[in-house]
Amino acid sequence: LMNKLTDKDLLKPAAYINGGWVYSDKTFNVTNPSTMEVIATLPELDREATQNAIQVAESAQRAWAIKTGKERALVLRKLFDLMVANADDLATILTMEMGKPHAEARGEILYGASFVEWFSEEAKRIYGDTIPGHQQDIRIIVMKQPIGVVAAITPWNFPNAMIARKIAPALAVGCAVVSKPAAETPLSALALAELADRAGLPAGVLNVITSTQSAEIGKEFCENDTVRKLTFTGSTEVGRILMRQCSDQIKKVSLELGGNAPFIVFDDADIDAAVDGAMISKYRNAGQTCVCANRLYVQSGVYEEFAEKLAKKVAELKVGDGFSEGVTTGPLIDESALTKVQQHIDDAVNQGAKVLIGGDRPEGEGAYFNPTILTNVNKTMLIAKEETFGPVAPLFIFETVEDVIEQANDTEYGLASYFYANDLKKVWRVVEALEYGMVGVNSGLISTEVAPFGGIKQSGLGREGSKYGADDYLEMKYVCLGQM
Ligand code: ADP
Repeated sequence: LMNKLTDKDLLKPAAYINGGWVYSDKTFNVTNPSTMEVIATLPELDREATQNAIQVAESAQRAWAIKTGKERALVLRKLFDLMVANADDLATILTMEMGKPHAEARGEILYGASFVEWFSEEAKRIYGDTIPGHQQDIRIIVMKQPIGVVAAITPWNFPNAMIARKIAPALAVGCAVVSKPAAETPLSALALAELADRAGLPAGVLNVITSTQSAEIGKEFCENDTVRKLTFTGSTEVGRILMRQCSDQIKKVSLELGGNAPFIVFDDADIDAAVDGAMISKYRNAGQTCVCANRLYVQSGVYEEFAEKLAKKVAELKVGDGFSEGVTTGPLIDESALTKVQQHIDDAVNQGAKVLIGGDRPEGEGAYFNPTILTNVNKTMLIAKEETFGPVAPLFIFETVEDVIEQANDTEYGLASYFYANDLKKVWRVVEALEYGMVGVNSGLISTEVAPFGGIKQSGLGREGSKYGADDYLEMKYVCLGQM
């Protein structure tokens, strides 16, 4: 890995606490899922170290919060510039630990950086409000203040962007952060911390815990009353545990949880555009995103055509090591991810689904799975109910608008949804009916820092990005001035 980096100092085999690099006798390994080789050995920190980091963050936060918005903005702007300047190295680290193709990894770095840029701008615009008083001698002001110390837990599927999306708004408004990236992919978070350090972020304002003891660290985050806010991206199952743990202290939570995105193609859609949208929505990141199309509903009049055209495109995908030329699809994160994908396919096939393409693993090492399309799928199959998190597109057939809306909403999840149609009346009707936090209409790629990302129902709480994103890290204070 070292040899591939222009700036070797971006690879940090240590945790980052109070502006310094922390080592330990106890360690764990980070593995490249394309080769199964160990690429780094990191300190295994425990609950006590986490407690210490939280304390450090508390004192750092006070000094950080009283800086002007512009002062904080300048540090974040510098961090953005450094992320862009080092995008190639950051992408290399990301591909090594997570497996996605290098070009896609670079895209993720720029996406992560865009949140840092956005919130560097927002840092200066944390506006309050004045409200006409209810008595002649009263003046009313609403001010917004940073919530305090924030704990952040992030997953492995976007090792850079998920943490960037949390620390950018938190730091912008004057919070301090103690973060715990997924143990599978901590190196991207540590590289980001190194750049934040170079950008002049004061010691203790950002801390990164490295550990495989996620439940223990999570408990400390939830039970330590210095932590005023927990922000989490990951599974609904773990989100539920964390929310429960936070309930004792009525701790504020933001949760970006699982999805089960419907992707609907109506008869009047531009089918080629729908195929392109499905390709990006389904097969990006080897199907491992929480906004990936999980259930593709195709109206009967265009089912055959859509399936055929999609299969043609899927046949062009190239599975392999993210550093190889032309590779579009990297490995899944580990063996258990492969098992789940295979389970979903087997279950569907046992109940009558047909494999149009893929359905199995390529020969050789690495956690690879061939991009797959299933037809003849129905709602009793596992794949209709659970998030697959792999490169499998199940194609359901439907007849009417009512029918597909009912099926699309028949899930406890409510993150992303997509549909392709052209009739304006229908478009509006479906937009209103879909019970999702995000709707892509004639678009398969909806993530951007300028829009509010987030889910409803059991997909989570809060929004990331946009003019709304800072609110997750702010408290509102109403001031009543009397005797005026
Ligand atoms: P994924 O399917 O993406 O691995 P998880 O919800 O299991 O989703 O993991 C997301 C993040 O939550 C990771 O950083 C993981 O280490 C962490 N995590 C897993 N279990 C717990 C837990 N019980 N408490 C706190 N964090 C946890």
